[in-house]
Amino acid sequence: MSDVEILDERFAALTIGHAKLERLWTGCRWAEGPVYVPAAKSVLWSDIPNDRVLRLDETDGSVSVFENPCGYHNGHALDAAGRVVACEHGGRRISRLEPDGRWVTLAERYKGKRLNSPNDVVVKSDGSIWFSDPTYGIDSHYEGHAASSEIGACHVYRLDPDTGTLTAVITDRVCPNGLAFSPDESILYVADTGASHVPGLPKAIYAYRMDGHDVAGGSVNTFATCDAGFFDGFRVDRAGNLWTSSADAVLVYAPEGKQIGRIPIPEIVSNLCFGGPKRNRLYITAQTSLYALYVNAHPPGW
Ligand code: MG
Repeated sequence: MSDVEILDERFAALTIGHAKLERLWTGCRWAEGPVYVPAAKSVLWSDIPNDRVLRLDETDGSVSVFENPCGYHNGHALDAAGRVVACEHGGRRISRLEPDGRWVTLAERYKGKRLNSPNDVVVKSDGSIWFSDPTYGIDSHYEGHAASSEIGACHVYRLDPDTGTLTAVITDRVCPNGLAFSPDESILYVADTGASHVPGLPKAIYAYRMDGHDVAGGSVNTFATCDAGFFDGFRVDRAGNLWTSSADAVLVYAPEGKQIGRIPIPEIVSNLCFGGPKRNRLYITAQTSLYALYVNAHPPGW
């Protein structure tokens, strides 16, 4: 029996029919933010309420604590130099892990006011760092430190890591969350989980057309809406298909927005990333656990 559901034959070509979903580790309170670190042959991911980053060593499958406390990390990404970039709920900042082991601050204020609680992050090919800043990490003491928003809104920001310049690039979302670029970086996809705060809001991923380094004005389309829980974190493969979290499965959408496949997961899915030496292993964070499934898909640039 296959562990994937083919809704369109295009998805069959992206999967390995007999590959089994594996639960690699369990014991988190809310697993999030997976990132593959090739040089360390490892996957790092967050266990937000436990204020720790965990590490799966691919060479022997062992899991250990990488950082604890860590400032309630959530999303992670890798920059072009291979450094890990982190969203910190507790530190209310974007930080980066330097080769000497220090986490340095890249951004923590917008127009003099503290960020809410950076949630998820992606690095563009020009080196700019794009992240979402909803309030989940300051709504309670569970995933950070309870506080009120100084900014009073939840934006998507672009950060120039060299100058520290922070620009609010998307200001029309309620709770921007997961984000990713299309392979040619002509589209920025952003999930909005605002229905957690405003009942009745669409639970959707929106597609913003890019104009060079910026989001083109008035260019937003609804890419997909979620019927099961929320779209939280997601990634795009090199062919432009979008692999996203939802309540009970990884859902896969073709570039035009049609759902082509589904990978049932026995817990609430929060996020995912491609990893492994061939980048063909989908690592999935879901509630208490880290899962993995070999697929026939790869991230952009691979
Ligand atoms: Mg998220």
